[in-house]
Amino acid sequence: MTRAALESLPDEHPVILGLEDVRVHYPMGKDWLGRPKALAHALNGIDLQVRAGETLGVVGESGCGKSTLAQLLMGLIKPTSGKLEWIYNNAKERSSNVQIVFQDPQSSLDPRLPVWKVITEPLFVQRSAPRRDMRDIAAKVASQVGIRTEYMDRFPHQFSGGQRQRIAIARALSSNPDIIVLDEPTSALDISVQAQILNLLAELQRSRDLTYILISHNVSVVRHMADRVAVMYLGQIVELGSAAEVLERPRHPYTQLLLEAVPRLGVAVDDAQVSAPTELPGNRNLPTGCFFRDRCPKATVGCDKPQALLPARGAAGAEWVRCHLQSV
Ligand code: ADP
Ligand code: MG
Repeated sequence: MTRAALESLPDEHPVILGLEDVRVHYPMGKDWLGRPKALAHALNGIDLQVRAGETLGVVGESGCGKSTLAQLLMGLIKPTSGKLEWIYNNAKERSSNVQIVFQDPQSSLDPRLPVWKVITEPLFVQRSAPRRDMRDIAAKVASQVGIRTEYMDRFPHQFSGGQRQRIAIARALSSNPDIIVLDEPTSALDISVQAQILNLLAELQRSRDLTYILISHNVSVVRHMADRVAVMYLGQIVELGSAAEVLERPRHPYTQLLLEAVPRLGVAVDDAQVSAPTELPGNRNLPTGCFFRDRCPKATVGCDKPQALLPARGAAGAEWVRCHLQSV
């Protein structure tokens, strides 16, 4: 991003994370010399800044790179190229405490561990608290997410789906992370408990000043929770801006198709899911020019040139779009 881009973001909260032209390519297969036969181009130039206390929604169909982005933030993989920087008190750091809440608490919680150990797993891994304090810490965090402290010796299967997700949230909180990645946090839950979990997450964010990266297919969830939204296509951000602008006045033709795919009438809002308007093209060989142009209904002259994420035309705030028809 340009200097101007940095400055046009809302600035009541400091930037805590910056990504600059971040790429992640996975080697695929090996030839007789042991060289990769092909590359999966999972992330193809991500420019992004995250501010303390915000919720950034990340949307895009399966395979666009959302989980790769999450793994990158958690330090589980490194960028193939580009820069990822954490910023504390104006100092640049290489890593940070990022925790994650997965879609399915059934498979993300170790069934052999009692709840207090599940909740304090991150502290155990980081060795950031004395062992004798772990039970007390677990009970304290549990009570903040609405799990009774008498239940600390029970096992995950003894709880309902909603309670298990509360336990997963407690685990994410126990080490006081800077950012929590929420990867489809309510999609495996009954409709009736989804709202409770979203409300809990919102409440915790206020009381603990948390920063969320919310990955979701569910537009109503993103609308409900996110301050800003990033729309991803083939490992790039194609649109970035306030949730209101991106979801109500989508500018990129891909965002428009994605949102049109959401049924609006006669369907419960909670059921509204973004379904893929098209098949995502392969990412072994990246398209030239605009990645979306082959399926773009508005493709025209100039779309054969690479597209940069630029300020959106006629936007009041910090709205960004990777389309020459829509940018200034
Ligand atoms: P999403 O979470 O949006 O569905 P992913 O980040 O999981 O997308 O995947 C993005 C692309 O990277 C996909 O084409 C996927 O096949 C590829 N990919 C992800 N992880 C690996 C891996 N470990 N090895 C090879 N390819 C991978
Ligand atoms: Mg994924």
